Amino acid sequence: MFDLTGKTALVTGASRGIGRGIAICLAKQGADVAVNYHSSAEQAQAVVEEISSLGRRSIAVKADVAQKNQVEMMVEAVNKEFGRIDILVNNAGVLNYKTLDQMTEKDWDWVIDTNLKGQFLCAKSVVPLMERSGWGRIINIASIASGGVGVGYQALAHYCASKGGVVALTEGLAIELGPKGINVNAIAPGAIETDMAKEISEDEKVKQGLLARLAVKRIGQPDDIGAAAVYLASEEAGYVAGSVIYVDGGWLAS
Ligand code: NAD
Repeated sequence: MFDLTGKTALVTGASRGIGRGIAICLAKQGADVAVNYHSSAEQAQAVVEEISSLGRRSIAVKADVAQKNQVEMMVEAVNKEFGRIDILVNNAGVLNYKTLDQMTEKDWDWVIDTNLKGQFLCAKSVVPLMERSGWGRIINIASIASGGVGVGYQALAHYCASKGGVVALTEGLAIELGPKGINVNAIAPGAIETDMAKEISEDEKVKQGLLARLAVKRIGQPDDIGAAAVYLASEEAGYVAGSVIYVDGGWLAS
């Protein structure tokens, strides 16, 4: 089950954290993987080497997902190398903690452009390749703070808005692309130990507060999200479209 042999994936923001975890999980299931990065060429190369050591093909591709021309060049480079893109994981994301009075238009644009517009630009560039083969999987990384489930984060209104947009984008694209054999879904992670959520590893009080709340008594790891991505990328998930899978250790249930 969940055999991705012969598939090619592009994972954005894959030099570290959840993106890295997803890229490696997809490769372990047999996929060749293009590792997109924004600035950390060295970290991206390390991920490429890890994937290559699994016997899969991999390249690192630099691009700011919020820049149309860079996204187009990235997709062209991946297509040139692999001749196809079957799986797109829109993972790249940013945040900065700002209350409304502190938040500038620049903060707003940075977060919305990276987290939401970036997913639109990547989907727009990759979908023609998926249409060519009549098969595709697009996996958008949302958040439990995407809205509608009673979780909001303090001083992150722009981030919450961007992730709400990701869920709406996922549903909109799912109904449009499903008839073409392209399934679009989202994963909404809870608290995952990465650089973005470094308060979890740096602040014992935050960590203990989370552990007390979570049904599964551990903090999430990138591989937990990678496993959900493997499922959504697989043939077996062919009847899943426009869904959001919450991978949150039971946060929402508690
Ligand atoms: P991270 O900061 O470790 O990784 C984010 C990655 O995105 C980095 O590699 C970064 O370089 C890349 N990136 C940022 N801006 C980019 C751009 N313009 N173009 C290309 N790449 C860019 O954070 P993470 O926790 O691994 O986050 C990955 C995704 O998961 C994000 O979308 C985030 O919002 C989401 N998420 C994380 C958590 C969590 O608890 N860590 C929870 C919910 C959702």
